[in-house]
Amino acid sequence: MEQHDLRYRISYRDIKYPRLEFTTGELLLVLPFGHKHEMLLEKHNGWIWERVNFIGECLQEAAGKKLFERTNKEFKDIVYSSVKKASKELDVKVRGVYFRKMRTKWASLSSKKNLTINRVMMYLPLHLIKYVILHEMTHLIEKRHNDRFWGMLLERCKRYREMEKEMFIYWVIINRHTH
Ligand SMILES: [Zn+2]
Repeated sequence: MEQHDLRYRISYRDIKYPRLEFTTGELLLVLPFGHKHEMLLEKHNGWIWERVNFIGECLQEAAGKKLFERTNKEFKDIVYSSVKKASKELDVKVRGVYFRKMRTKWASLSSKKNLTINRVMMYLPLHLIKYVILHEMTHLIEKRHNDRFWGMLLERCKRYREMEKEMFIYWVIINRHTH
């Protein structure tokens, strides 16, 4: 196998199933105690290299991007107006909007329809803030990332694939700054 220059880290945790993460741009194997990692790497070899190439591309593009500067108030105003707009477009309602620093995601939606926004989103360009909110609020209609979900998103955001990639690029940049 052509794996001589695949870089990865291993973290053993009290979990049932192994998983592969690329959240910081580098491959992390999260394994149950005693689990052998060679089989996992072999099994997902194709997917891993696809991901590594994609991330390599993203890192190159990240070099040319900068973080946005805006005040807390400016940021919150953008969020509130984007929520309002998405609410109208999708004919859905969130109960409340909260701001919190989160380590693993841009935003989340609770079963009680509360929307939590990761504070670090304030460094994103405007179109991406709007995109994250549209994405999250589409989950009020369809919880999972299935064809129905992406279809609904495509109707309102033709360039959603590009947006997802850009989000990943900014995730890498922001995590580099805050870790
Ligand atoms: Zn989602």
